[in-house]
Amino acid sequence: MSEGIETPDKPGTPPVGHNSGDLFSKFDGIIKQRQDLLDSGLEDPFGLVMEKVLSPVTAVCNGRETILLGTYNYMGMTFDPDVVEAGKQALDDFGSGTTGSRVLNGTYAGHRDVEAALREFYGTKHAMVFSTGYQANLGIISTIAGKGDYIVLDIDSHASIWDGCAMGNAEVVPFKHNDLEAMEKRLKRIPEGAGKLVVLEGVYSMLGDIAPLKEMIAIAKRHGAMVLVDEAHSMGFIGPNGRGVAEDQGVMDDVDFIIGTFSKSVGTVGGFCVSNHPKFEVMRLVCRPYVFTASLPPSVVATAATSIRKLIHAGNKREHLWENSKRLHAGLKELGFDLGTDTPQSAIIAVLMPDLERGAAMWEALLKEGLYVNLARPPATPANMTLLRCSLCAEHSEEQVGQILQMFENAGKAVGII
Ligand code: PMP
Repeated sequence: MSEGIETPDKPGTPPVGHNSGDLFSKFDGIIKQRQDLLDSGLEDPFGLVMEKVLSPVTAVCNGRETILLGTYNYMGMTFDPDVVEAGKQALDDFGSGTTGSRVLNGTYAGHRDVEAALREFYGTKHAMVFSTGYQANLGIISTIAGKGDYIVLDIDSHASIWDGCAMGNAEVVPFKHNDLEAMEKRLKRIPEGAGKLVVLEGVYSMLGDIAPLKEMIAIAKRHGAMVLVDEAHSMGFIGPNGRGVAEDQGVMDDVDFIIGTFSKSVGTVGGFCVSNHPKFEVMRLVCRPYVFTASLPPSVVATAATSIRKLIHAGNKREHLWENSKRLHAGLKELGFDLGTDTPQSAIIAVLMPDLERGAAMWEALLKEGLYVNLARPPATPANMTLLRCSLCAEHSEEQVGQILQMFENAGKAVGII
């Protein structure tokens, strides 16, 4: 036993303190940081409760009607009457849950139907639904890239992508965010004949910036790599048919796997992968996060299928959401806030905060004004940034965007950020 590790006096006596064998001691730093924040009198930014949800863009928080500007409900589908009705009907017809895996008793007609809806939406041959988007990345990445294979990925990739890489045990080669040269350099160094997967995101969710997919995918293909793109934050909104950044940049056909989620524009929960790979269906037998977990409840897949089919025809909503994003971006810039991108690139607009303390103070001041945004901090954010992340919804009215800007002005002046 190594020196300095204390053991309990008798079995069953829990050890306490540093190096005492308490596996929680590694979290002491984060526990203290949170406590210091709460001791300063601020509300817990990670403990907010939505007491009542009134619409896709308004809820009651702390007894007060609040505008929601920190959800991923980009297309506002959560209260769509057809979507809600489909869920209610499925509850009546199929019950509350499947109680089983997709490969045993967990495939109902609704699971097949939502996969058909995804094939219609993306125009692909195959679609496979997972219980979350996290599991879709975990499952697909870990299954297709294993020991001896190489994964080249953007350093700012979502946690589920990193976790998928770790689970599969492939060699992981990160490159600087959105840097074409760095990406190519990494690909050049991979041994001849090795399996290669390039993993990219359409929209990066912390700063709301998009990837130069056209150029990146051309490089990947030149080096014989397969390409997976996570379009979680672009589905429904970006691209002429809402298929994402790859569609917008005209490179859908060169993407081998698109990963997405039902927890954002679709307005419920679940994840998926679509692909034209001729052997894709084997995934249903070999992908552990698909096989060894229960399938989504029938009401969830029914709402998702209805929502996805409506999103195909949501051109007007896409247009309005772009107008909202442009209006908010321009307004915040004019007020003097530092933003994550020079121009609006998605429905996410990140407002840069000088530090966690002032970020938390601004978050609370906005909540008191009646506005909810996301406080994002390391390790979720790049370069140790503290951000107030605003994500717009197609259901925000022009008038609400005006109100939001006024709230930012009031809070920013009160906290001394502008
Ligand atoms: N990929 C990205 C880029 C995400 O931002 C997220 C969730 N925020 C996910 C995957 C996981 O999606 P889900 O919520 O369905 O697990």
